[in-house]
Amino acid sequence: MSAPDPFALPVSALRGIAGRRAEAFARLGADSLGGLLTLFPRTYEDWSDPKAIGDLLDGEDAAFVAEVARDPTLRRTGRTSLVRTVLRDPTGAVAAVWFNQPYLQGKLKKGERYLFRGRIKRRDLAFEIANPSFEAAPEEGGAGLKAVYPLTQGLTQGIVRAAVHETLGRVGAFVPEPIPVPVRMEHRLAAAEYAYRSIHEPAAREEVDLARRRLVFEELFLMQAGLRLLRTRSSRLHAAPALPRAEAVDRAAARLPFALTDAQRRVHAEIAADLARDVPMNRLVQGDVGCGKTVLAALAMLQAREAGFQSALMAPTAILAEQHHATLERLLGPGPRIALLTSATPPSRRKGILAGLEDGAIDMVVGTHALLETAVRFRALGLAVTDEQHRFGVRQRTALATGEGRVPHVLVMSATPIPRTLALILYGDLDISLVDGMPAGRIPIETYTAKEADRPRIHAFLRREAEQGRQVYVVCPMVEESEERDLASAQETYRRLSQEVFPDLPVALVHGRMKAKEKTDAMASFRSGTTRILVATTVIEVGVDHPEATVMVVEDAVRFGLAQLHQLRGRIGRGDKRSVCILMAEGAEGDALERLRTLCRTQDGFQVAEKDLELRGPGQFFGTRQHGLPEFRIADLYRDLPVLKEVQGALDRLLARDPLLAAPENRVVLPALRSRFGSLFPNVGI
Ligand code: ADP
Ligand code: MG
Repeated sequence: MSAPDPFALPVSALRGIAGRRAEAFARLGADSLGGLLTLFPRTYEDWSDPKAIGDLLDGEDAAFVAEVARDPTLRRTGRTSLVRTVLRDPTGAVAAVWFNQPYLQGKLKKGERYLFRGRIKRRDLAFEIANPSFEAAPEEGGAGLKAVYPLTQGLTQGIVRAAVHETLGRVGAFVPEPIPVPVRMEHRLAAAEYAYRSIHEPAAREEVDLARRRLVFEELFLMQAGLRLLRTRSSRLHAAPALPRAEAVDRAAARLPFALTDAQRRVHAEIAADLARDVPMNRLVQGDVGCGKTVLAALAMLQAREAGFQSALMAPTAILAEQHHATLERLLGPGPRIALLTSATPPSRRKGILAGLEDGAIDMVVGTHALLETAVRFRALGLAVTDEQHRFGVRQRTALATGEGRVPHVLVMSATPIPRTLALILYGDLDISLVDGMPAGRIPIETYTAKEADRPRIHAFLRREAEQGRQVYVVCPMVEESEERDLASAQETYRRLSQEVFPDLPVALVHGRMKAKEKTDAMASFRSGTTRILVATTVIEVGVDHPEATVMVVEDAVRFGLAQLHQLRGRIGRGDKRSVCILMAEGAEGDALERLRTLCRTQDGFQVAEKDLELRGPGQFFGTRQHGLPEFRIADLYRDLPVLKEVQGALDRLLARDPLLAAPENRVVLPALRSRFGSLFPNVGI
């Protein structure tokens, strides 16, 4: 038995913390001493340079030393209370009030001097301050910087500061040092103990900067080291089947209804070379919506088939799976036996498909999550492709890939225009291929914002387009938190358009709550051209490819993220006809409108993503539930990109010398990975 881990002690081990207070800490993600140490301050209050009252300015946050000049009075009205007094120094006086802290009446003593801090209000010559914090006046000077923590109901800054202070006293000297000494020296990083103390209780601003840099480095370093080691390990432990390049694939490529773009050709070659080796491929193909990623998957799947192996293509929605299935059949022609497996597949057919996969009668299968079920067994799976994988998360991505003995090659396709540096973090265990060109002849999508008052004109435009044989999407927002209401308003939009505005035109509705069969039918009728106007929720967001649709109206566009709008807009503009996207933005002003205008100005998904990232931060950008990686506690991917680059460089050099981090000076890393990522790094060495 090893000694109990002091960092795992619950916060209730600290003075004055139990019950509700302990629960409040847990809500902040700090239910243990270790958690408290990584409850990083949001900002700092400067208590260091107390000013004379006479020098205080209106509106500033300032610290000053003053004497309580009068006995504080307490007044209660209903459930509220007010404590008042006057604070004085030789240069002036400040009227102070505290709301709902009645106990302060007995705590503040007339004639005593305290150090106060708060927001000053100055009216002519009178100073006021509301709810200032205070402590006993220091002998001289101020009280340095004070951390300001994220709070939750039941906690105050004082409570959190005291808890952190006690924690530093108890375990501060034992914080582990997970960065190897040579790396610390090379990058001039502060030691762990110093960093944790200084981030919480800095004596000066410079200490915060040193501490923060080191902690950000540590967080990114461990994340990256973890991803890289996972990758080294899987390529050492497992081999994949070698799927040599085949002439049949080149012939299929030559037979396509279009010529591949240069970017497609380059990425195709990268994939083909990967597949030919017995080292498992782990490749992310990234490319803006409409750049033509599907055909690359198709060719890779054909290469597997020519080598006698099966392949699977997994899509996030049944609609998309059906579409891919149709595309593969069209692009690859007769020959490969291609099955479709989704939740809509009838049981009898499903049984046949499962049997065919197991005995090898089926070469390729396209499907949804249904493919991950244990009942799905392959005779010889050589390649697993996932499309639009950010919807699946890391866990699912690896699920198809893990098996006995040999593992399949893995190809991941994503249209999420992730800035490259970020992609490195999210997919640090993947190689990245960029399809950075569009098929020739694409006409830019005209994008406009519009208001309610523009509706009649928009309707007239939609009618004209529909009557000329074009097709229209009307997209309604749908989010989990307000699903019922959103569904109702999508249905209302459908009712209005189908009954009042376009009673003579075929209008249909598709949303995520419909039965699989109804969805399929609605999409099929749109694809065949029967339906002219399709009212849809974001089920059409990813991947749907239907070049005849040239107009999109997005209702309540401000409710979407920019990257998501870009994805949506990518449903049109897929052919060589003029395409128009109208973003309804009634009531949007200022920043919100400016955000939407980004889309009117640029067609480039990467620019859109950069902007989105800048405006909303990475958490929002990916939707925390989607990317499947832990949140960062201190690193801010936007602000800390330079540190990330340093980390990449450090790891390149480190792993080139010591790929498994087994050298004595590097052995500090693995325990930290274990405690951070748990079972991914079992305690048995790599
Ligand atoms: P995405 O990368 O968004 O998945 P798709 O694979 O759905 O894009 O392709 C978008 C459309 O472009 C499809 O209709 C596809 O047939 C077409 N396409 C793909 N590559 C080319 C090309 N090289 N030239 C012309 N059209 C292409
Ligand atoms: Mg696609």
